[in-house]
Amino acid sequence: MSTVHLIGAGPGDPGLLTIRAKELIETCDVVVYDYLANKDFLKYARTDAEIIYVGKKGGDHTLPQDQINQLIIAKAKEGKSVARLKGGDPYVFGRGGEEAEELVEAGIPFEVVPGVTAGVAAPAYAGIPVTHRDFTTSVCFITGHEDPTKEETGHNWEVYAKSTSTLVFYMGVKNLPMIAGNLMANGRDPKTPVALVRWGTRCTQQSMVSTLENVAADAEKRKFAAPSIIIVGGVCSLADKLAWFEKKPLLGKGVVVTRAREQASDLADVLKNLGACVYEFPTITVEPLDDYEEVEKAILTLGAVDWLILTSVNGVKHFWNQLAEIGLDTRALGGISVAAIGPATADELKARGVTPDFVPAKYVAEEVVAGLLERGIAGKNVLIPRARVAREVLPEELARAGAHVRVLPVYETRLTQQDPAEIVEALEKGKIHALTFTSSSTVENFFTLLSPETLKQYPDVKIACIGPVTANTLSRFGFTPHIQPEDYTIPGLAAALAQGI
Ligand code: SAH
Repeated sequence: MSTVHLIGAGPGDPGLLTIRAKELIETCDVVVYDYLANKDFLKYARTDAEIIYVGKKGGDHTLPQDQINQLIIAKAKEGKSVARLKGGDPYVFGRGGEEAEELVEAGIPFEVVPGVTAGVAAPAYAGIPVTHRDFTTSVCFITGHEDPTKEETGHNWEVYAKSTSTLVFYMGVKNLPMIAGNLMANGRDPKTPVALVRWGTRCTQQSMVSTLENVAADAEKRKFAAPSIIIVGGVCSLADKLAWFEKKPLLGKGVVVTRAREQASDLADVLKNLGACVYEFPTITVEPLDDYEEVEKAILTLGAVDWLILTSVNGVKHFWNQLAEIGLDTRALGGISVAAIGPATADELKARGVTPDFVPAKYVAEEVVAGLLERGIAGKNVLIPRARVAREVLPEELARAGAHVRVLPVYETRLTQQDPAEIVEALEKGKIHALTFTSSSTVENFFTLLSPETLKQYPDVKIACIGPVTANTLSRFGFTPHIQPEDYTIPGLAAALAQGI
């Protein structure tokens, strides 16, 4: 029999999953998850893991609790290790205690991985510390939705109302008029600050601050719904001063990243840090070549090469992979001068012990050629490892300037078979505010997967592209980019987006 792990998945921000929780998702045979557990975490699961959604949105259960218990017990009895993922902390209004009791009764070993509970995290992301010496000496977690089958209430409204505790209500939005009413009827000052935080810690977070007497009407006006945390107490008056998360420039903005999955994370990470809701829609995949004979030959004759020019991170990776394949390493470059196009390519080289001799300040062919000419490239042997199909401007210009240029394909990009349904649905729902294109091939492939006519139906969606070449390709499809950075880099593109939408 295997162990069941009752795991808190935190309030939603992927960074708030604990290290232990991640380790267990990565290793368990079965992952059972809830509505409030961010499903992004499923990407950590083993490819052969069994993934089971047991839902629970308000009262709308995908699987009733007793069947969830039976399911978990059955899987454990089959000898499978189970990661039971719950939103927030499993023992804070998550019925984790009941699941644990069932496991004990069934004689199944279990472990608990506490999680970051929404009642602390959502206020923190909204600028509200649940305790603060100037306001309160305690904090109280309360359910705003008591078990409807219970005969007598477990609430003591008089105690809540008279206490100086910060009151944190879970599952309370629907009952907000009842909650506020009971607190005031039992003597809490109607002017007491109250805050609501919806989808706390996620890119869709929204919060509002009101007072006990006005909060029910205000929340209705602003259409606050579940899942929200309600905070009652003086600490809510700090929200304005301590707000930070909702100040992120792209918070709540849907941005599509079309780069290959292998290289999307740099752009996606910067965008997420700026608050964006990132939709990954990789239009290309980066693949090794079928045959590396040419590359091998070129490596064995590196002695005749004067300059090596790397134009992309993938170029570096695949070239070095082939060096390793034939038992060589960076030392094979000996006295060769190295140029890197773009800071990311330069970093990739530095990671392999190579400090490039030349990194152009701007990533356009003319500048690169001018810089290399200054460094005496005319008449020299130049090797450019890169994608099978790529722009010819750089090799052609270098050749015209008198260099002996050899282009060496070391990888290729292919069109992915992405289903655009999710993106089209998000466009329809107005959830997408911008699309990003980081190369001509992302543009071409994007429009193979989703027609230009479809995109034209959403004129408010901003189109951001990395530089003039990509912009040119966009114009072939009838689009003019709204956003374009000055420096043609990924961080530049993210910064331009932050200002442009
Ligand atoms: N075990 C969870 C709570 C489950 S009860 C925890 O520790 O956080 C479900 C309630 O939690 C929701 O109705 C809502 O009140 C609250 N909640 C969960 N995630 C939330 C989030 N990201 N933002 C705001 N409230 C959240």
